[in-house]
Order: sequence, then C-alpha cells, then structure tokens
Amino acid sequence: MVTGLYPGSFDPITNGHLDIVVRAASVLDRLVVAVYDAPPKDILFSTQERVALVRQAVKSLPNVEVQAYTGLTVVVARQVRAQVVVRGLRAGSDFENEFEMAMMNKKLAPDIESLFLMSDSAWHFLSSSRVKEVASLGGDITSLVPPHVATLLRERLQKLAR
Ligand code: ADP
Repeated sequence: MVTGLYPGSFDPITNGHLDIVVRAASVLDRLVVAVYDAPPKDILFSTQERVALVRQAVKSLPNVEVQAYTGLTVVVARQVRAQVVVRGLRAGSDFENEFEMAMMNKKLAPDIESLFLMSDSAWHFLSSSRVKEVASLGGDITSLVPPHVATLLRERLQKLAR
C-alpha cells in the first residue's frame, strides 16, 4: 500500500490544490493532506479553519485524510507511514524552491520519495495568495476555489474591512 503526504499551507485551498489531491489520490492507495500549522500572523485562516475547508473539499474522496501538522515534513511523513511526499508544480518559478526542498528532504530521509504532479493548465496561474488579493480587491473568485471556500473568504474579507 502506497501512502502519500501532501503538505502545504492551504490558506485557503484552491481548485489548483484540489486538482493535485484528486490526481494524487487516483494513483496512490492513500493520501494524507497535511495542513501546516502556521503562525496566525502569516495566514488569513486559522489552522482549524483551513483543515475544515480542505476536509469539506475532499469529502467525496474515500482514500484522502486531512490533518494539521507542525515540524519537518519528512517526520510527519513517517508518522503517517507515507512513502512519498506529493507536491504540485506550476510554472518554472515553483521548480527551484521545490527542487531544493526535495533535495533537503532526501538528505533528511533517503527512504522517502518526492512525487511532483504538474498543475493542470487551467490552474497554472492560481495561488492562494493571488486568490486572496483578487478577492480583497472585489474580483470574482468563484471559478478559482470551491464554493464553500469562496463563501468563507468573502465573509472573512468583509469582516476585516469593517
Ligand atoms: P506552501 O506554503 O507549502 O507553498 P501551498 O498551500 O502554497 O503551500 O501549496 C502547497 C502545494 O500545492 C505546493 O506544492 C504548491 O506548489 C502546490 N500548488 C499550489 N497551487 C497550485 C496550483 N494552482 N496547481 C498545482 N499545484 C499547486
């Protein structure tokens, strides 16, 4: 049985993340989406909220689990018995960073592989930070994130604007 760990901030989960989850879950036996427990100052949604948003987005996928994590990705991978770390690659700009991280993970845990899935061309331009920026400027983000994410994002930004 091959388990993958898909770590990230997911602040919030976008259709680009979801595409990677669906495709990774279709080639792996089990996928654990690990939501980084980031310091509140660096994120819009709390860890609990981000986990809940991801859970709702993946609820139709029986082999996908969601949990929060802190610390080293490879340590968490071992904890959940994952043999591979899954990451998504958008344009070339992701490559340098992901390559460095994969090399470091290999150094720390030679038995764990990195598995990269290319972003679907529909989501190449999509990032959580761009979604937050567009939404905060009043742009329509309904085609970029799942509906429950769009709703909470709108609510949060309205609250912050008050
Ligand atoms: P991090 O803070 O670790 O970069 P993110 O939540 O931004 O976390 O992203 C988690 C993973 O999802 C990364 O591998 C990132 O490259 C990938 N990812 C983000 N957006 C997309 C997208 N639109 N298409 C494919 N992969 C994506």
